[in-house]
Formats: sequence, structure tokens, C-alpha cells
Amino acid sequence: ASSRNYCSGVVRSPFDDIEIPEVSLSQYVFEAQEPYAGKPAMVDGISGISYTHGEFRDQCHRLGSALTRLDVTKGDVVGLVSPNCPEFPIAFFAVASIGAITTTVSSAYLADGIATQLNSSSASVVVAHKGVLGAVMEACKQCPKVRHVIVIYPTPDDEKAGLLSFHKLLKDDGKAFPHSVKINPKEDVAVLPYSSGTTGLPKGVMLTHYNLVANLNQLQHKDISTLRDNRGEHQEVFMGILPYFHIYGMMPCMGISLVTGSKTVTLPFLKPELYVKTLEEYKITYLHTVPPILDFLANSDLVKPEHLNPTHTVLCGAAPIGPTLINELLKKFGAGIYFQEGFGMTETSPVTHVTPRTKFVLGSTGVAIPNTLTKIVDLTTGKTLPPNGGEGELCVKGPQVMKGYYKNEEATKATIDPDGWLHTGDIAKMDGDKNVFIVDRLKELIKVKGLQVAPAELEDLIRQLPDVADVGVVGMPVGHAHGEAPRAFVVLTPGSQLSLKTIENFVECKVAPHKKLSGGLEYVEAIPRSPTGKILRRELKAMALSKMTQ
Ligand code: AMP
Repeated sequence: ASSRNYCSGVVRSPFDDIEIPEVSLSQYVFEAQEPYAGKPAMVDGISGISYTHGEFRDQCHRLGSALTRLDVTKGDVVGLVSPNCPEFPIAFFAVASIGAITTTVSSAYLADGIATQLNSSSASVVVAHKGVLGAVMEACKQCPKVRHVIVIYPTPDDEKAGLLSFHKLLKDDGKAFPHSVKINPKEDVAVLPYSSGTTGLPKGVMLTHYNLVANLNQLQHKDISTLRDNRGEHQEVFMGILPYFHIYGMMPCMGISLVTGSKTVTLPFLKPELYVKTLEEYKITYLHTVPPILDFLANSDLVKPEHLNPTHTVLCGAAPIGPTLINELLKKFGAGIYFQEGFGMTETSPVTHVTPRTKFVLGSTGVAIPNTLTKIVDLTTGKTLPPNGGEGELCVKGPQVMKGYYKNEEATKATIDPDGWLHTGDIAKMDGDKNVFIVDRLKELIKVKGLQVAPAELEDLIRQLPDVADVGVVGMPVGHAHGEAPRAFVVLTPGSQLSLKTIENFVECKVAPHKKLSGGLEYVEAIPRSPTGKILRRELKAMALSKMTQ
């Protein structure tokens, strides 16, 4: 083995290891922001309200103090349900700064989805944006542990009803801030996002302060980051449109923007005209995308090549991208754009692989970032394959790998083996230059526009209908940029008249829009299962695909 290879088949990052500071997430972020105190940090792309890096830190401190007065202490879990806005990171880092834990909930969730996560994570306080307050209050009826609801932009009636105003808490004098709280970065959890991992229902992913500080550091490595120095006149500008509740929006966008002294313009939703207006008005220098946004940039007439004149880098990740789309992008915007692809998971804080600055290889998701090991494991023999040795399960090891799933040792053990390798559930191959190519997904997870849909969740829901004897859900491919769409296969009890439309409507009323059965539904006589009862999803998918092509 070469000196860079750890042992046979285990491949180290091509970059030298970096030192990762053992400090809390908030200490790391606030210290990094210091040189940029006077520069804008977060701008609300709708209202124009903005905070400088200095104000941002001050607001986090005040909110940390106010939360302490509300008896929020180290280890408590705070649910954060909000579309992207500058108040999101203020809440997030204020909670982390007092040693409490944020569980980020999709603002697209309906009441049941919110309640499930708040209960599963044992949240005792919720910070909710006014726009989602209806669903949150409905959810809270099912969450006896929730003591306070703090509202970003409440109405006078909300306050009369006993809800707390986020902005009033920001006026706290800061004196109750718990400076004496000790955070152990390697043990203490900072954030608890939800992911279904390789199988089953969504689970709380315990990311420690150290995990997150590690990933923020790894991403700033000089051979990976294309960001320019913000200390002089220049300032990098991000568009904060990828949802912050999801780990991709949370760390590579929100976190990196703050620690590098960049400016982020937050947008709460994707609306083509607004997106283009924001590009024009704010001269975005660095664009974070997922495949549908990349498709919009590359193929919509609304986006003109000159809109990306100020932009030097477009990053895409969270789902398979495909060379066609990348070529379309490069053709439209020319050599002035550097395209980077990233691979990661909620369970890895999130990034493990990214296109290095040095070499772009079409179709590859890049090389392992510093301090990260990769191996490709043969699916039948379980042996580690050498580079150029074919396809297998991608396994990763590094300081960004989660502590485990919250209160779920069994799922943790099934994902992280005793040697610390995280089994991604993705099938990949590696070339001789350490470039990783994701070729397929072994796990049952469905990705819709970069967001997770757990088949088990939809199956559990559909099974609630009395006439459903069995059900299986898989993701059907829907065009190169749009990933997959969930499709249900339903077995009815004999004699039942339950219509597919009824099932579809039932699901639609219960789940966030991206979890709808947009891939359709069909009746089947039986769900193919393994001798142990596991749904054979590949068979189901192949069955449906063959019918579609007949
Ligand atoms: P999440 O935890 O929601 O970030 O989902 C992680 C999963 O998204 C990975 O295990 C992959 O299946 C998929 N994924 C993320 N990035 C990529 C990528 N660049 N190419 C292909 N799949 C990806």
C-alpha cells in the first residue's frame, strides 16, 4: 500500500489532516465572526431586514439569556419550525450557546409530522415562524411536554393567547446568559435533525458540537473552498434558499456563511421570479443548489447568462445530479463558473466528499475531505474493494460522523460498525485518483428534490386505512433533475372497494407536499417480501417500470 493508503482498500483524503478545535459550536462561530463584526451577515430577502455579524452575535447572546430565564437549560431540546429567515440562525446559535439542542423541523410539515418529531425528540420549547403557527399549535395539542411557544412575528392576539414574541426576547439585557455552562464538544449534542438513514422511520441524528465544528473546518480547507477572503473590501454573498432545517442548508450554507464572514440573503421559498430578482439585486457570488434548482438555472429562459456574472461557484448536492445537467449548466454560463459537487448525509454533518478545487471530474462527487477515510465494500463478499475495483457500499469514517441515533441503539449499531465506519447505504465506485462516483442507492430512502421521504412513514400511514392488507412504497425516477416520486403499491382486503383516489387524498391531507404520492398508486395482489418479511423494493420498482414501458 502507498503511504497515503491506510490499509488495503481504505483510502485517505488526498489532503493532509487538519486540526479540529475542541470548542463548542457557538464559541467557534462567534470567534470566527469577530473580524467581520461590522459587515452584513444575514439579510431577509423579502423584508430587507438585516443583521451585521456583530449584531447577530449580540442577538444570540440576548436570546440565550432570555431562554435561560424561561428555564431552558443544558440538554433541553428546542424545536425550530421556520422557513429560512435571519431569525432562524439566531435561534439556532442561541440555543447551542447555552448548551441546549435544536431539533430542526421542516416548515412544510403538517401538524402530525411536527408533533411526531417534537415528541420523539422530547422537545420542551418550540420556536415557530408566524407562517407555520397554525400547524405548530395544532401539533402542540399532541405534545404535552412543550412548555413554551416562541413566535417569530406574532400577532397581538398570539401574545394575548400566551405565546411569546421572539423579537421581544431579543430585547433581553443579556444578564442571565449562563456563562458557567460547560460544553463537552465531543459528547454534547448541538443539533438533532431527523433522517430515516438506511431503513425505517425518521430518527433523531445526534450531531455533537465537535461533529459540526469539524465539518465547518473541513469545508474551509484551501483546496476545497473557493470562497474569497472577506476581510478587505470584498464580501461573498450567498442565497439562503436551501431549507435550513435540512443539514445541507444548515451547515454548508448557513454555518459556512457565518464563519467566513459572508453575507446571506435568505428566501423562505423557491419562486422563479423572486430567485432571479435576488440574483440581480444582491449579486450572489456563491450558489448552493440541489438538482431541480440546477435544472432551473441551466434550462429556464428566466435565468440569463449575465445573472450569474457575479457568481464564481455553483455547488450542487443532496441527490444524484448526472453529467447531462452539469454540461447544460457549463454550456450556458461558460468558463466563469466553477462547478462543485458535494456528497453527504445528515448523519455526517453533512459533507464527506466534494470536488476539489484542483480537479473537476465529470460525474464524480469528488474526493474525501480532510480527516475523512473512504472504503467501498463489496455487497456480496463484504470485502473492501481497491480503487478501480468495482462497485460496492460506500463507507466513511471521520470526525463528522454522528454520535448515533437518539434513543435508538439498534439503528445506531446497524449504521456505524464497531470500527467506527458509517455505512451510507449508497452504492459507489472509486477511480485511481480517489474520485468517488455514486452509482445507486442500496437503502430504501426516497429523495424528492433533495429532501428525504421515508417509505416506512408512508406505508405506516396508508396501513391506517382499514381495508389495506399490505402496502409498499418506492421511489420512481422522474427525469434527470427531479429525482424520484413516491409510488404506493396497495393490497386490499378481499371484497374491499377502497379507491386509489381515497388513499391518495388521505395521504395528501397528512403529509408535507414533497411526501405526496406524486409517483402514483396501484393495486397489486401481493407485496414481494423476503423470507424475513422485508419488502423487496427493487422488485416492486422493476414491476412498475416494466408495466410503464409495456
Ligand atoms: P440526507 O441525509 O437527506 O442529506 O440524504 C443523504 C443521502 O442523499 C445520501 O445517502 C445519498 O443517497 C443522497 N445524496 C447526497 N448527495 C448526493 C450526491 N452528490 N449524489 C448522489 N446522491 C447523493
